[in-house]
Amino acid sequence: MLSECPICQNKYSTAAQVVVNGGDLSVNCPVCGQYDLSEEAWRDLLHPPKPAGHRLSDLCRARLSHRLRTGSGEDFSDRPDVRSEFVIKFIENGCTGPNPSEQATNIIKYVGNEVAVSGEPVPSLPIEFYAVVGAPNPEFAAQLALELVSRGLLSGVNASSKDGSGLININLTLDGWDSYEAEKRGRIAGNYGFMALQFNNDILDSFIKNSVKPAVKEATGYDLVDMRDIPRAGIIDNIMRAQIRDAAFVIVDLTHDNSGAYWEAGYAEGLGKPVIYTCEKTKFDEAKTHFDTNHCTTVLWSVENGDEFNLELIATLRRSLKLFPGAG
Ligand SMILES: [Zn+2]
Repeated sequence: MLSECPICQNKYSTAAQVVVNGGDLSVNCPVCGQYDLSEEAWRDLLHPPKPAGHRLSDLCRARLSHRLRTGSGEDFSDRPDVRSEFVIKFIENGCTGPNPSEQATNIIKYVGNEVAVSGEPVPSLPIEFYAVVGAPNPEFAAQLALELVSRGLLSGVNASSKDGSGLININLTLDGWDSYEAEKRGRIAGNYGFMALQFNNDILDSFIKNSVKPAVKEATGYDLVDMRDIPRAGIIDNIMRAQIRDAAFVIVDLTHDNSGAYWEAGYAEGLGKPVIYTCEKTKFDEAKTHFDTNHCTTVLWSVENGDEFNLELIATLRRSLKLFPGAG
């Protein structure tokens, strides 16, 4: 029986259990969990003396471990079955994984879930911790956890010594539980943000549909909807009021001076909803005085800098919704 996990290579853990079935492998790894691996993927992509073109970095392997830990339901059924096509696609997509601020959010979620089940603090960070939260290695994950302690979101005892044992008796603080609950609420289906904007503007429509909506969903779990997404019979004004009333937040685009959007903004502000304003950058620069920027948060967009806009919008949203602000 083999004892090296073909993915994490036991770099940070003790032996894995590897059973060979024909040429395929069946693995039970303390870090990556249980998975199956095709002979081809093992031989061509993951086995150590592989061709230089497919030499996997430690970071890519760590990201793969994270993917196996959390990817069920997407590419995998309950027990991941790792085949060459999946590994090749994963490498081609740049071995992407959570950024440090998402890793920090994952730490809060991990500790909250564990404590919710056992009713006890987490005794120490388990061997699979870095893979579960998506950190590049155990030291990085432990450092992030320490930073969450210093920010008052986690509690725990820093038992680090020269031997390096790290944090023990880990729990969430009250602020940490607030973040945990806010994060969970945002992920419940049916929670959404409402977007008020000028319709039938090709540039804005395609930017919102193809860039902003997917980015907000990915980062916060919230769907972003506008009136066109709601096929319901009834008096349009009443439907719109209900949509705004039940939304977690409202985003209002002011680029086209749309009076409907201004009205919706006022209605949402009156209800005490978090309202975030957006505007196309050149329009904003030219007509700045239209907007009372001293009192409103306005995030400026341009199609060329869509990613930058999305990042700023999401950071603003997370602050407004009291989601964990991230470590960045
Ligand atoms: Zn492993």
